[in-house]
Amino acid sequence: MIYADHAATTKLDSFAFEAMKPFLLNEYGNASQLYSFSRSAKKALRQSRERIATCINANPEEIYFTSGGTESDNWAIKSSALVYGDLRATITSQIEHHAVLNACASVEKMGFPVVYLPVDSDGVVQPTVLKDVITPNTKLVSIMFANNEIGSVQPIKELCTIAHKNGALFHTDAVQAVGHLAIDVKALGVDMLSASAHKFNGPKGIGFLYIKHGINFPPLLDGGSQEFGMRAGTENVASIVGMAVALENSCNHILKSTEKLQRLEKCLVNELKAANLDFILNGSRLRTPGNISLSFKNASGEMLLHRLDLMGICVSTGSACDSTTTQVSHVLQAIKVPAEYIQGTIRITLGFENTEEDVLKIAKSLIKILQK
Ligand code: PLP
Repeated sequence: MIYADHAATTKLDSFAFEAMKPFLLNEYGNASQLYSFSRSAKKALRQSRERIATCINANPEEIYFTSGGTESDNWAIKSSALVYGDLRATITSQIEHHAVLNACASVEKMGFPVVYLPVDSDGVVQPTVLKDVITPNTKLVSIMFANNEIGSVQPIKELCTIAHKNGALFHTDAVQAVGHLAIDVKALGVDMLSASAHKFNGPKGIGFLYIKHGINFPPLLDGGSQEFGMRAGTENVASIVGMAVALENSCNHILKSTEKLQRLEKCLVNELKAANLDFILNGSRLRTPGNISLSFKNASGEMLLHRLDLMGICVSTGSACDSTTTQVSHVLQAIKVPAEYIQGTIRITLGFENTEEDVLKIAKSLIKILQK
């Protein structure tokens, strides 16, 4: 099998797995208890928080563990809307993941206004567009760091500066970026940042929300005093430990991994071009490494996915979270992929374990299917 759907999920890092094992088997103490048996769980939590904070240049007490990207996004958006009890607006973009879009839809149903910014044909939110729309009545701007379908990376620092100049908070859904792109929350100035471990070779069902020190924010879950009283519930120590190890490993290899993935990307695209296939490579020049969204003229993305599957190759038609719907992706619509190409879109997302041989096989298989 060739796995080329790393934006959907990734394989667990073997070092992360080894680090998790003791907390699944012998060190099962509740981190909140006072006896010595719980000491190791408590220490692991503290160290994991420190390790994760270092990876994004945050302070440890600014990292709040959650069940993943969806929860972090919901917390950031819904709490920001509700916190001051006024009806100031949320601004987001048309190409966000449904974790953000549907959280915004809920906020709208509660009576809070939401504005959805358009993107350019590369899938980038232009800062001038935000400048034109933002007012002192904006409470939150939430723009994703990198898009999950087409990989486009957003000008986060510029957008965040505009939000702050207008008195708004800034959140970024960085689920596709953390562990793949260098992130420094202090240099960027963001107030909140969402991340999910299974996108950077960590375990599934665990993530975090970075909340800048000093931001007045209500708890997500009421109950015990875990997560500084902000997100109650017994901590998932094993997964938190696995997430920290996976993130550290990913961050230590960003340069090497980027170089390799960009080389593989070029190799795949060049093979397809050499075969004279008629396709569009979606997204901006600055994309998450290894993200290749291709729209083939007069083809069916779904047919391509199934044919590739029969050949032992896993790719996606659009966003994996949408794989059960047959609607055309909102991201492809927002970047205005021409009608004769839009249905023929597949997303190939390479990972560090993919080889040149894999990429050549993917290209050959695509050429074979499409030339028939
Ligand atoms: N945000 C983005 C950009 C994503 O790509 C995803 C998952 O695909 C999520 C949020 C949801 O993350 P999780 O699967 O951890 O809930």
